[in-house]
Amino acid sequence: MGATGTGKSRLSVDIATKYSGEIINSDKMQVYKGLEIVTNKITEPEKRGVPHHLLGEIDPETDFTAQDFRYHALSAIRQVLRSDKVPVIVGGSNSFIEALVDDPFSSFRSKYECCFLWLDVSLPVLYSYVAQRVDQMVDAGLVDEVRGVFDRKADYTRGIRKSIGVPELEEYFQAEMEGDDEGAENLLEAAISDIKSNTCKLINTQLSKIYRLKKEVGWPIHRVNATAVFKKRGKDAEDAWEEDVLQPCFKIVGDFLKN
Ligand code: ATP
Repeated sequence: MGATGTGKSRLSVDIATKYSGEIINSDKMQVYKGLEIVTNKITEPEKRGVPHHLLGEIDPETDFTAQDFRYHALSAIRQVLRSDKVPVIVGGSNSFIEALVDDPFSSFRSKYECCFLWLDVSLPVLYSYVAQRVDQMVDAGLVDEVRGVFDRKADYTRGIRKSIGVPELEEYFQAEMEGDDEGAENLLEAAISDIKSNTCKLINTQLSKIYRLKKEVGWPIHRVNATAVFKKRGKDAEDAWEEDVLQPCFKIVGDFLKN
């Protein structure tokens, strides 16, 4: 668990590699096919050969609900366990994780023991990181990618078009279509700035959901602080990842799997 941009995907691959795991994605936009850049999907090289479930599988025009997630994630968990592997569920959509774990009818907690990890990064550091990440996404082709799903008649309240990055660019594409080049330029700048601020808002809502699950619902969530990784560069950042993130996480997961 953790807010967007904290390094959950990387950590999940590290854990799955060490403990013979397979990953089940619980990011509600990454479940859909398409928009790899906008939704920041893990790439093939980053997967390092670890199998991923529920990643880029669902028709992007349909609405994939928390109940759909519960059904598909349960089936993936059973499949992973049948091959004697450890299911590692990773993603920022806490409503999906809650629907899976605390659904009153599924008795999930009585069937499966859970180990909850929360990868956390201090807010000012994370805000500035995600703002930079949006600029990198733009350089990597975010605007063209979103232009590919632009459709004035489409329903922006369902499916993958709800992703941060899609609604923000609508007015820009509109102006572009109407040949209003000067207006379009200003609108693009405004859209990029909105994508940054909406990503920061997403971070806040994700964090309040984690606080609620930890403090009010009482999930035994282990918080791991990755802030130092983001404050350093190169080898120092790698060392901080090892020391501040991997060592504590491997200890927590190792102890959990032993019991
Ligand atoms: P909510 O009930 O508010 O949808 P949630 O916990 O189910 O919350 P979140 O992962 O917090 O789901 O996503 C909330 C919204 O944030 C999504 O509807 C989408 O607009 C945006 N969002 C989430 N993940 C991504 C992503 N990977 N890429 C782009 N936008 C995202």
